[in-house]
Amino acid sequence: MRLTAIKLSGFKSFVEPTTVKFPSNLMGIVGPNGCGKSNIIDAVRWVMGESSARQLRGESMSDVIFAGSSARKPVSTATVELVFDNADGRAGGEYASYNEISVKRQVSRDGQSAYFLNGTRCRRKDITDLFLGTGLGPRSYAIIEQGMISQIVEARPEELRGFLEEAAGISRYKERRRETENRIRHTRENLERLRDLREEVS
Ligand code: ATP
Repeated sequence: MRLTAIKLSGFKSFVEPTTVKFPSNLMGIVGPNGCGKSNIIDAVRWVMGESSARQLRGESMSDVIFAGSSARKPVSTATVELVFDNADGRAGGEYASYNEISVKRQVSRDGQSAYFLNGTRCRRKDITDLFLGTGLGPRSYAIIEQGMISQIVEARPEELRGFLEEAAGISRYKERRRETENRIRHTRENLERLRDLREEVS
């Protein structure tokens, strides 16, 4: 899966609809301090389901919406869409056969938030599931920011194993196992409750 374009509108400093294209494997984004380079990385993280405002260098989730400038009024909605080339079929599940995958997230000041997969509304979980095991994702090793190299060098063995499991595509299956174990635990609890009720009634 390769990111080919990012479309932003109303997101942080990108108030006007803007498309950033990534036509080749190696791209550089350069510009003066404060011009919005890191905002592009924040946008990628945000669409992939980042739910911590602090990870996006803000205090609340609405901080991702353009807050106004001396020349422009604030806007009420932020939208970011990521377009992926999936010719290698690494996206999981039903999306494996799609050549192109679009993932979109939208948020408004009144707290309304929505995710879209190839134009169809979906849950946040559908997005995170799609990226699990691909190496992409809001906190994956695909995004290496300042300070992260030393974080990896100093990481505890179990944290390092997390990176290896993601690279090997295992984390998707570990997540499914965790969900299944939770469902089994809930079912056991329900059965116990049922047994208690039956004993009370009989
Ligand atoms: P540096 O090279 O210093 O790291 P940068 O190019 O990475 O800078 P960013 O940190 O991406 O810059 O962008 C910072 C700019 O984005 C600031 O001018 C800030 O005012 C603006 N900005 C951030 N959030 C918002 C928002 N919600 N509304 C409007 N502008 C915003």
